[in-house]
Amino acid sequence: MPQGRPAMPVAMKRRVLMEVGHRCAIPTCRTVPVELALTVPYADVKKHTFENLIALCPTCHTRCDRGDIDRLSMHGARRTWRWSHGHSRCQRHTPAHTKTPSQRKR
Ligand SMILES: [Zn+2]
Repeated sequence: MPQGRPAMPVAMKRRVLMEVGHRCAIPTCRTVPVELALTVPYADVKKHTFENLIALCPTCHTRCDRGDIDRLSMHGARRTWRWSHGHSRCQRHTPAHTKTPSQRKR
């Protein structure tokens, strides 16, 4: 872990995992095991937030890193989950954090 980057709070991790039932958040995948991925790179957000986390299997995580699955899709997957579980507030408006800075260059 790079210096200056705080550890992710355990409670936050648990909440992300519970949200998707401890399975990959991509609805058609649902594979285990899962790992936590950031939808916006840490360097861009500089903090850990629940909204920026998603539980993905290693395969989907790699695909997201490669850009096969884009960030909006990941957010979409999470919103689908919230709707299907019916316990969250309506999120019809695109959250501001999905407007990612143009940091696609490597
Ligand atoms: Zn997956």
